[in-house]
Formats: sequence, C-alpha cells, structure tokens
Amino acid sequence: MSALVHTHAAILSIGDELVRGQTLDTNSRLISARLMDLGIETIEHATVGDDLDALVGAIRRLSSRAPLVVATGGLGPTDDDLTRDALAAVLGDQLVEDSDALAQLTERLRSRGRDVSAAQRMQALRPATARCLRNDFGTAPGLAARVRVDGGQADVFCLPGPPGELVPMWERSVVPLLRPQPGLTIRTRFIKLIGIPEAEAAARVPGIMARDANPQVGITASGGILTWRIRYRGTLAPDAAEAEVERVARRITDAMGEHVFAHGEVSLAAAVLDTLKARGQMLATVESCTGGLLGAQITAVPGSSAAFAGGFVTYTNALKQSQVGVREQTLAAHGAVSAACAREMAAGGLERSGADWCVSITGIAGPDGGSAEKPVGTVHVGLARRAGDGGPVEARRFLIPGRRDDVRERAAMSALAMLWFALRGGDPPARLLWEQ
Ligand code: ATP
Repeated sequence: MSALVHTHAAILSIGDELVRGQTLDTNSRLISARLMDLGIETIEHATVGDDLDALVGAIRRLSSRAPLVVATGGLGPTDDDLTRDALAAVLGDQLVEDSDALAQLTERLRSRGRDVSAAQRMQALRPATARCLRNDFGTAPGLAARVRVDGGQADVFCLPGPPGELVPMWERSVVPLLRPQPGLTIRTRFIKLIGIPEAEAAARVPGIMARDANPQVGITASGGILTWRIRYRGTLAPDAAEAEVERVARRITDAMGEHVFAHGEVSLAAAVLDTLKARGQMLATVESCTGGLLGAQITAVPGSSAAFAGGFVTYTNALKQSQVGVREQTLAAHGAVSAACAREMAAGGLERSGADWCVSITGIAGPDGGSAEKPVGTVHVGLARRAGDGGPVEARRFLIPGRRDDVRERAAMSALAMLWFALRGGDPPARLLWEQ
C-alpha cells in the first residue's frame, strides 16, 4: 500500500453523550494540538451520535476531505458502540476475529480473574482489511485502515474514547505511522503574561500578528492570563527555524517586560511555586469565596509540597475568627468582604501556618449577595509576608466581571498575580487586571 502524505487531517468524535452535551469533546482538542506540533493541519472537527448511518456518512465524507482521519469513541463492548461496524461498512468488509486482539483481551481479563464474555469478545472483531491497535489501558483495541472513497483516500484511525486509553495508543501506534509533508519544519514557542490587557500587549508590538508572517504570531486571553504563540512552519533547516522563532520571541519578551511570567506552557501557579522554591520559602493560603480553588490550583502542580504549606478555607465569619484570628470588631465594622478582613486573614494565616508568605481571598462571587457598595464580583486579596521580606500586609480590591465560576477563577488568578509581582520585587504594575 503506497504511503499517503498526511498534509491535513479531520477528526471525528463519536458518541450520543457528546452531541447531547453531557461530555465535553476534549479528544478533538488534544489530537488537533498534537497534529499541529507535527505540522499536520486539522481542517475539520465533526461529532456524530451513536448512529450507524451517520457514522458511515461521516467517515466517508471526512475521508474524501483529508488524507488522515482520526476517530475516537464507540469501540467498546455495548450495543451502542458502532465504530467497528461503520468502518466495516465503509470498507465493504466483513468483520473477522483478530487472534492477537483476542489473546490480549483474554489475557487482560484473566489477569483480573475474569472470563471473556460474548459482548467483550466483539471487541476483538475488526474489518477484514483493517488492523487492530493494541490497547494497554483498556479492553477495546483501536483500528487502522485505508479507506477509498470517490473523492480520494485516507488513512483512518479509530481510537477509544477515554483519554487515558486514547493518549497512549496515539503515541505508541499512530504517531509512528503519520507522514507529515517531507522537509517541513515546525517550531512553536509560548510566552505567558500576567497583569496586562490584551489590547495593550498587542499595541506594544505593532504589526507582529500579520497574517502572512512566518513565524506567525497570535495572542489569546483566558482567565486573565495572556499567551503569545509563535509558530514557524516552513522549509528552513531546524536551526534556522529556531533562530527565526527566537528573534520574534525576543522582540515580544522585550516589549512585555515584567509581565512575562513564563516561556512555555507553564501555569501561573507553577511559576509562583518555582520562584518560592528558588528562594527556599513556603506559601500558605486563606480562602473564603474561592473555597479552596487557589489551593487546588497550587497543588495541581507536581512537587508543590516543596513550597506550599497548606491552606485554610474560612467560609463563615466564625471560622475566619477561630482559624486565622480575624477580629470581631473588624467584621462588625467592615464586613467579611473588606480590605481590613483580607489583611487580617493573610496576617493570621501567616502566623498560624508558619509560612513565609500568605495570600488571602474574600469576596462576593454571586449571583446573590451583592449591594451598591459591594457589587457581585467585589474581591479583596490580602498578602502578608515575613518581616524579612519587608512591607506591611497589603490588600487590593478587585471588581471582577463574569458569572460565579468566572469570579472565583479570576479571584484565584488575581491572588497569584499579586503574589507573583510581590515575589519579583521592584515596582508592581500600577494596577492589576480588574483592580479598582
Ligand atoms: P470503552 O467502551 O472501551 O470505554 P469507547 O471507545 O467505546 O471505549 P466511548 O464509550 O465512546 O468509548 O466513550 C467512553 C468514555 O470516554 C466517555 O464516557 C467519555 O468519558 C470519554 N470520551 C469519549 N469520547 C470523548 C471525547 N471526544 N472527549 C472526551 N472524552 C471522551
């Protein structure tokens, strides 16, 4: 079989739960990103339910549009898993039992003390001209086939839906078979920023996002974080391509100054933790309206225990008093959502945790609870540090737009931003995003 060049690709997600909106299609995003790194452009994401005709139609149509089609889902043992049948129908093949796949399935189930049921045995069936792809993390093998349709031909890979099965199969069995356009060099770089609005960041490097430029540059904003993405795609030798990307990256970095917190796909929490680790310091948190979200973001970073002591979640006034020593007079005079309370939360958290830094969050996430003086989205972030790190306990007031989830997410991000600039030393930017 002659090799196809996979210049571009289409992705097909399969499952009723996806079209009904019960499961978010993260597989397509994941596969597109990996294809992009290889220089293969994704031209379409399609999603169909568990319906044989719809599946057959989608595989045919996508195979006429792109030389590479990656489908996920619908390979399991139940009646609504129809990918195998659909591929067989498109190929005009009978289903045959794959002896290797059956042996692997039997072995896998036996190692867990179970026998192969009739339904499970169906998973060892494949269209006669297709190949099975080994599944090391589940029972359903993947399938690979060359599909010929009126408009052309395509290599079609059908992979299991669960990401934990899909990703290893992708790396092990699909990537080695992909054939991006020969001689193509791809280089991608990310630069991440905090504390600057998108329009201002873009205005500092005029013309850099020209559509026909190579490297091509784009900027995206998400939850208060900006990401510059620089991508070279062309025929330069790898070293020359790298130099081109570096030239553009330097121009952006110079223009963004102190707002750059990472080169690469690094979270703000990870950047803060790295800085703390380098200084041999520990952080504690005291959270009210975010209910532990900040602590969760911090502990999502591997190795966070080296710089994170822990956190207090003090939702009620009573807990603010008993856990971190907020004074009754403070609550009576200013309320829980106030700069004074945020300062006492941070100072109390610092003292009781023994950490070097403590950041606190108190605010109104909504949808209820707002007032003219303190509308929904009002958030105070407090920051306390050991005496050696100088400065009194500070607090900043933010007015964060969005719904409850947005406010909570952005409040946690604002706390990290404050911490980031404090750790850097020097002058923090005059005003953080959403700061009042
Ligand atoms: P198996 O039955 O062996 O688990 P399968 O190939 O039949 O695999 P599905 O039954 O279609 O997979 O999906 C199983 C689960 O995988 C879904 O409930 C969902 O959690 C996840 N999943 C499926 N497709 C996607 C997708 N496009 N994005 C994210 N998750 C997905």
